[in-house]
Amino acid sequence: MDTETNQEPKDLDKMAEQFAKMRQEMAALSATERKTFMEKAASFASSMASRGITNKKCSTETKQLRQISCHGDGANIMPCGNRKESQVFQGSFYCGGCGCGDKQGTQLTDITVNGKENYGKLDYPKVWCPLNMPGFQPYKKNEDDALETRNPRKKDIEDKFGVQYIEQHSRSGEE
Ligand code: SF4
Repeated sequence: MDTETNQEPKDLDKMAEQFAKMRQEMAALSATERKTFMEKAASFASSMASRGITNKKCSTETKQLRQISCHGDGANIMPCGNRKESQVFQGSFYCGGCGCGDKQGTQLTDITVNGKENYGKLDYPKVWCPLNMPGFQPYKKNEDDALETRNPRKKDIEDKFGVQYIEQHSRSGEE
């Protein structure tokens, strides 16, 4: 490990590999597909920048909101329909809606990999959710969503925590 940055060289290699793969994938796309891909790439780059070289993480309040957004609260709030069971990491889930796939860095569950606490999607100071759910950047209030895309789960989370609290802990996640 690099003691100055607290960053494993292997992590940096993995990031470089991901960027190289994205470049290759983009070369094979149509113009429309390329636009969507570019948006995803921009979102990925923004998340990586927020993480920085010291593996910064979001606050515990932000992470709690994200966990409930993805996994539900185990009581009245159901898990998100986009949540998919990982085929690679037993007992873990990933987001099937954002297009990031089932990878170590995209797991929504806190897991240990090779004896090390994993840095997953919900740890990034800034990270995107295709439904703009509480805790993610940007969070969009249920009442501001288009009627056809309104989400009862988002309303349940807003009722539980209050919109003001959610906005405070969804601003950038970089508290
Ligand atoms: S769509 Fe959002 S809330 Fe649902 S699993 Fe993906 S990141 Fe989580």
